[in-house]
Amino acid sequence: MKTPLFDTSALQSRATSHQLPPFKVKQIFFELFKNQRIHREEMTTLSKDLKAELAQSFTPLSLSIIETVKSDTTTKFVFQTLDGYIVEAMLMLHRQDEKYAPYSATSPRKVAGRKLNRITLCISSQVGCPVNCLFCITGKLGFTRNLSWDEIISQILYANRRIQQQFGKKEDGSLRAVRNVVFMGMGEPLLNYDNVIQSIEIMLAQERLSLGRRHITISTAGIIPGIKRLIADKVQVKLALSLHAPHQVLREKLMPIAKAYPLPALMEVIDEYVAATDNRIFYEYIMIKGITDTPALAHELVSLLAGRLAHVNLIPYNPNPVLDFLESDVKNIQLFKQILEKGWLTVTVRESMGREAKGACGQLGWENVKKRVSE
Ligand code: SF4
Repeated sequence: MKTPLFDTSALQSRATSHQLPPFKVKQIFFELFKNQRIHREEMTTLSKDLKAELAQSFTPLSLSIIETVKSDTTTKFVFQTLDGYIVEAMLMLHRQDEKYAPYSATSPRKVAGRKLNRITLCISSQVGCPVNCLFCITGKLGFTRNLSWDEIISQILYANRRIQQQFGKKEDGSLRAVRNVVFMGMGEPLLNYDNVIQSIEIMLAQERLSLGRRHITISTAGIIPGIKRLIADKVQVKLALSLHAPHQVLREKLMPIAKAYPLPALMEVIDEYVAATDNRIFYEYIMIKGITDTPALAHELVSLLAGRLAHVNLIPYNPNPVLDFLESDVKNIQLFKQILEKGWLTVTVRESMGREAKGACGQLGWENVKKRVSE
């Protein structure tokens, strides 16, 4: 199997053995990461001979694209790994005045003409997922394998190229790129710890993707050993906890992983994380009609998070034809939000981006599940 072209150690050892001057290694990285060129023929600063030599042992990306599903505000990328598995990533285009628009599930926002100001990529860390949350279609796929660090980085490199093709350069001549990366796609990132951390190092490196620490979010279902490793390794990116229920009984019903990592122990390690990093935790809370969205649960959530450094993201459930849940009514979401705010919590109702492409939260992998159901 060919090595990814952005594998520093492989490229450097090859460079040494072939007397490849260090400046050529730099040129390759510059083409990939800064010029956003992912096809050898586009890399105009590399000589023809060098490109031919690299073609024998290196591949620019570790994934190939097999489908792109676009809407006004999102693009879903369906990738295939070199060994034939499907993983997905979701590009979200945030427009200038978005944060001021009121939440409404029934009237999708008009985006034409509004200036693009933030680009977020939701990436996958595993093929399928072993966690099997009841409301998530990815969990229905089961777990196949972890993604390697280069398969994770390939999702971003591919997205950057597509952004350049779609939007061209900024007014100042610089290239647009993914600004925020969230590990909220397929898989549980803390069950693929080493590859996720290695990919984050490449995202942060100035001469690679050069993203800010506050622009990378790891989202976990609550894997206690993984959170402990984040503390020990001083990994200073944002942490989101998929909470989804304010007490153990309901959490265990929705997220079987809660049996292994019960809520009291989880909150204890979260407190340790906050004490060690001083980072605010983003609590993800899904709004499922009649199950997670009652006023009583909102009050319990206030009690659970009282005094904690917290931001709550309420996520309207994104319907899946093979799952037996319904999305909360808008008025129930608003009431739930008001109760949290009266309890002095900061709250955002997350916009459901990408539903049309079956790429919103909990929907990734739908095409595969559909195929299995029809078979
Ligand atoms: S919500 Fe996340 S952790 Fe849960 S099954 Fe889906 S991908 Fe896995």
